[in-house]
This record gives sequence, structure tokens and C-alpha cells, in this order.
Amino acid sequence: MQIIEPISDMREWSESQRRAGRRIVLVPTMGFLHEGHLCLMRDARLRGDLVVASIFVNPTQFGPGEDFAAYPRDFERDRRMLEAEGVDVLFHPSAAQIYPAGAQTFVEVEKLSAPLCGAARLGHFRGVATVVAKLLNIVQPHAAIFGEKDFQQLQVIRRMVRDLAMDVEIIGHPIVRESDGLAMSSRNSYLTAAERQAAVCLSRALCKAERWFRRGEKAAAALVNLVVAELAKEPLAKVEYVQLCDAETLDEVGAIGAPAVLALAVRIGNARLIDNRVLKP
Ligand code: AMP
Repeated sequence: MQIIEPISDMREWSESQRRAGRRIVLVPTMGFLHEGHLCLMRDARLRGDLVVASIFVNPTQFGPGEDFAAYPRDFERDRRMLEAEGVDVLFHPSAAQIYPAGAQTFVEVEKLSAPLCGAARLGHFRGVATVVAKLLNIVQPHAAIFGEKDFQQLQVIRRMVRDLAMDVEIIGHPIVRESDGLAMSSRNSYLTAAERQAAVCLSRALCKAERWFRRGEKAAAALVNLVVAELAKEPLAKVEYVQLCDAETLDEVGAIGAPAVLALAVRIGNARLIDNRVLKP
């Protein structure tokens, strides 16, 4: 596996591979990798000839008072994991390269960035869209893979790529879970043993709502209340939001008539955890 840091080297590599007719698939990450990330790498392997993984903890997607400084980092471990997966290139740029002094250009996907996580994390999706636009510009992949765990992020990126006529295929990958249902996340490392046990309440609540939906419940209020009540049984869980939204526009819906996403964010200890379930009529 090649480790590339300078933007110019990354571009040069991509240009020569594209010229040779090879299909490049990019998997952007913030590192501190887990099995969920590795599933994206394997998916990338199946979808192209060359896999590029990027590791960059993007400062602009963290708000003031968020966990940028505390975000877990272990480059050596990540490097070994990617090497073992057979990833071709690890792109690991510095913040100074990604945000050169005086940088003042940002990408804003206006409407999709506003609800859900965007309401609690002002500027978060502006940071995400900006860094992903830069990574796509630098790596020039044919396709890029993003996890459906960050459902809103995936929709924001799809919209950005369409709106800016970027020549790249965006692929969503299903949520990868621990055996008890907890969605894998680098932030799960913040949880104490007791909090880790409590954290299963997110997926449990979504599973219950999905069962109700399968039995015919279509009303948003009923499904959201069910999830809130289920989460309330867990004293360590502090709910930030539970919402049912149209899966494409992310507008809140009153009932499920088209694919909808039941999305939630919950604080447990120092971790802010998110999860979702797409419900299709
Ligand atoms: P992160 O390093 O948390 O920014 O995640 C990098 C990519 O991996 C993003 O596209 C995430 O949506 C995706 N990802 C993280 N955790 C999971 C998971 N449990 N299942 C599927 N995708 C994931």
C-alpha cells in the first residue's frame, strides 16, 4: 500500500491510473477505523480496480465545543488495517494542504443541511460538503462510497455531486452493526462499559418501530413516539432528536407514503450517537 500525503502526488497517481484505464474507488474516512469502514473498503474493491482510502479528521465539520481535539486517532493501527485489506493507496493529507492559508471557499448544500444533525450542528454539513468536494477534486475517483449510517451526509453529498455536475458515482453502503445491533462508530470508543450496554437502545428502538411499520403503522407521530418511549426506558440516553423524514428531500413527513428515514441522535455519556432506518412502503 502506498501512503500519499502531498496533493500533487495524489493527483499524479490518479492521473496515471486513469490514463491506464483503471477504475478508482475512493472511501473517505476520519480514521480510527473499525469493521464498518473495512466493509466499505471491501465494497470498493468489488466496484473498481483500485481502492483509495483517505484519512483526514476534518476540522471544519466540527463546531466550537465539539470533539475535534478529542476525536480518536491512531494512524499506525489504521495503516495496518488498510494494508491488511489490500487497499492500494492511503491518502493522508495535512490540514494545511486541505485548507491553505486564506481559504475562503465553502460548499453549502442549503436545504438538505438544515434539519436533523444540521440543526444541532450548525455548519457541520458545510464542512462535510467542502472537504468531500476537495477530496473528489484531488483524488479524481470514478466512484466514492459513503455509509448509510450517516444518512443525511450521504444525501448531502449526492445532491452536491448532482448540483455541481461532478463526474463521480456516489455509492451508499448499508449500516454495519455490532452483534447486538449497535451501529459501528469511531465514537463508540467514548463509551464506558455501562454506556456501551445502554447504547443498544438506539437500534432496539428502531427495530421496534420497523416491526410496527411492517404491521401497518404509517403515522409519523405514532412511530416517533414509540421510539422516544423506547429510548426513555434507558436512563443513560439523552435524546437529541427522533424524526421521520422523506428519504430523499429530508422534509419531515406526517405519514409514510414514499421511502422515509426514521432518524435519531442520542447522547450517551460523552458520545453523540446516530442511527437510522429506511422504511419503504
Ligand atoms: P467516519 O470515519 O466516521 O467519517 O466514516 C467514514 C465513512 O464510513 C462514512 O461514509 C461513514 O458513513 C462510514 N461509516 C462509518 N461507520 C459506519 C457503519 N457502522 N456502517 C456503515 N458505514 C459506516
